[in-house]
Amino acid sequence: PDAVMEKLVSLSKRRGFVFQSSEIYGGLASCWDYGPLGVELKRNIKDAWWNAMTKHYDNIVGLDSAIMMNPRVWEASGHVDSFNDPMIDDKTSKRRYRADHLIEGYIASLEKKGKTEEAARVQGEYHKALATEPLVKSLYDLIIKEEIKAPDSGAFNWTEVRQFNLMFQAPLGAVADEASIVYLRPETAQGIFVNFQTVREAARMKVPFGIAQIGKAFRNEIVKGNFIFRMIEFEQMEMQYFVKPGTQMEAFEEWRERRMSWYTESLGISKEKLHWYKHDQLAHYADAAYDIKFEFPFGIEEIEGIHSRTDFDLRRHQEYSGKSMEYFDQESKERYLPYVVETSAGSDRLFLAVLSDAYTEDEIDGESRVSLNLHPNLAPIKAGLFPLMKKEGMPEIAQKLQKELQKQFKVQYDDAGSIGKRYRRQDEIGTPYCFTIDHDTLQDGTVTVRDRDTTEQSRIALDQVKAFLSEKLLK
Ligand code: ATP
Repeated sequence: PDAVMEKLVSLSKRRGFVFQSSEIYGGLASCWDYGPLGVELKRNIKDAWWNAMTKHYDNIVGLDSAIMMNPRVWEASGHVDSFNDPMIDDKTSKRRYRADHLIEGYIASLEKKGKTEEAARVQGEYHKALATEPLVKSLYDLIIKEEIKAPDSGAFNWTEVRQFNLMFQAPLGAVADEASIVYLRPETAQGIFVNFQTVREAARMKVPFGIAQIGKAFRNEIVKGNFIFRMIEFEQMEMQYFVKPGTQMEAFEEWRERRMSWYTESLGISKEKLHWYKHDQLAHYADAAYDIKFEFPFGIEEIEGIHSRTDFDLRRHQEYSGKSMEYFDQESKERYLPYVVETSAGSDRLFLAVLSDAYTEDEIDGESRVSLNLHPNLAPIKAGLFPLMKKEGMPEIAQKLQKELQKQFKVQYDDAGSIGKRYRRQDEIGTPYCFTIDHDTLQDGTVTVRDRDTTEQSRIALDQVKAFLSEKLLK
């Protein structure tokens, strides 16, 4: 698995998908930049999501709310009090760990060593600890009792466990008092909840309806790493669907189905790598919660949460702001606080899921090849355009084709090296089709079209290339 991740990281850097942020200064842990191809791929993923929400459903509207909001928002949402992770420091190595992960890692290591009974016993203790308040003390006691060691230093020298709030704070203006601290939002959802009435009125929406948003979120994560899987600055794609109380389970099931099929149909992700995970321990306000998980090279991990959140968020904002969040149903003449079903995904995590699912090594004519079998709609470059030789008017024909296609599609002209090399370059970045202008083109006006996945070649008329791409890509 590490070797696969290494290949993905290296390809990403070499070809300009993703690289370490501020790398010339040594970078910053868990911050990544998207390069020329990465930004195209990410945009295509986001467009696929945006279309699947705001275009496919006329009762879903978009929003782009500010990252910084009135700090009261985060008191109402519960983030100030409870958006915490239990943290413990190893005094020897000065490294910081999540106390719960440390215990889970210890249990996994016991299992790995074949100490199944011992692992089950600690697991039982761990479950008890999770249910015992205060959590920081129960986790700490368990770590001490089991003499769990720091994975890096192998030592046993801990600070107390304490709750660590994941929200980044920023001082606002020149006055350094409490009131002037703002937070960088840890999720985009609250921007949707606080704007519920304004958006509903402006767009004349009737329940059930949804509000969709794509935007940056920030979390001061203790656990970092795994490339772009867990970042401190990342992007979320969230949709809050407001329904009449009592109808939430119907909406919940509908959205579960829609979201799962989006992964296979719109992103082309392999069905067998997608899994449902049901939350048995629900947050106090939730009445149902499932995650969609994906088989990453390093394990099966969450990519999206689908949660039925009742009226918790609207009720809290009503209470804290003193403004009504109620909805008046014209038909039934009822007044109520809508319930919410949310779908919450991270575009960076989806990027990594798409990339690792697409990464393929195979052999073509005895030569090893790396290709990204991306869904054509996600591919950063849709077509490679190659003149076979830099003479006899071939470059001019290819450039004319480029001019025609690039009004609609992102294409790339390449006249460097052998045709085989040019194919490999495009395969590696996931370009689904390549068109070559050769001697026959000069005779009969046809070009070679080569398919990335099958490597098969056929001929089509030069003036049919655009129609060919439209047919393949704009389905
Ligand atoms: P995790 O348990 O992995 O920390 P979470 O349950 O806290 O995730 P949510 O709060 O449900 O995540 O966020 C919704 C989605 O946002 C996640 O499914 C994921 O795709 C994305 N996401 C959350 N945290 C991060 C992060 N630190 N880096 C990248 N994406 C993230």
